[in-house]
Amino acid sequence: MQTPELIRPDWDVPDCIEAWVTTRTGGCSNPPYASFNMATHVGDSSESLRSNRLQLQAILPTALRFQWLRQVHGTDVVQIQCPEEQITADGLITRVPGIACCVLTADCLPVFLANKQGDEIAIAHAGWRGMLAGILEKTIMQMSSSPDALVAWLGPAIGSCHFEVGEEVREQFLNAHGSLDKLSSCFVQTENPGKYLADLYAIARCKLNHLGVAAVSGGDFCTHCDQDRFFSYRRDGTTGRMASLIYIAAPIQ
Ligand SMILES: [Zn+2]
Repeated sequence: MQTPELIRPDWDVPDCIEAWVTTRTGGCSNPPYASFNMATHVGDSSESLRSNRLQLQAILPTALRFQWLRQVHGTDVVQIQCPEEQITADGLITRVPGIACCVLTADCLPVFLANKQGDEIAIAHAGWRGMLAGILEKTIMQMSSSPDALVAWLGPAIGSCHFEVGEEVREQFLNAHGSLDKLSSCFVQTENPGKYLADLYAIARCKLNHLGVAAVSGGDFCTHCDQDRFFSYRRDGTTGRMASLIYIAAPIQ
């Protein structure tokens, strides 16, 4: 098995905030899940998944506890004090050190959030459906910290270079967010009639800024372009998922 290659967000948060994104490198899953798949629901063997998650745990603090989600492209956000067996939601918030809040993606946008004090974190699974439905608004609203005390980082998602959507998607966004005039610039018309290239990063930045979160970084990936590092649902259909995770480091005993 290869050593996992993880991506560490480049953002301005206190040292006690730890965050990572897994890539395809590492693990033992066979194609089309090769090789560091982190998701249960995609058809990969449960032995491979178990082994991959153990390999991930082995490179993170031993006492770290993981909260995985059953994601449904919705807007439910759950605040957790301790990990639970099965949560159906698309966002997690905690103030408790030592709990890794995890989301799984392969094109959708993982949005990492932490306050500048380093005692509250959140993560959201933000694809176009979730963002249209208001997952970022719900997450920010449910956090105790005020938006101007938050820092955000946008993890790997499909870039606008590869994310063609129909007119109906653009219209739904513009109808739902009439006050956000910058939103129309997140959709660029293509040569194909009625089609637009959608920029998930720009949509997220626009929404976060509007909600009062000014410190937003990241967003310079394309999961579709970078086949070596990332799974991409739109590119490959049946494929694995990367894990995005964030935790507050537990104080050293
Ligand atoms: Zn691309």
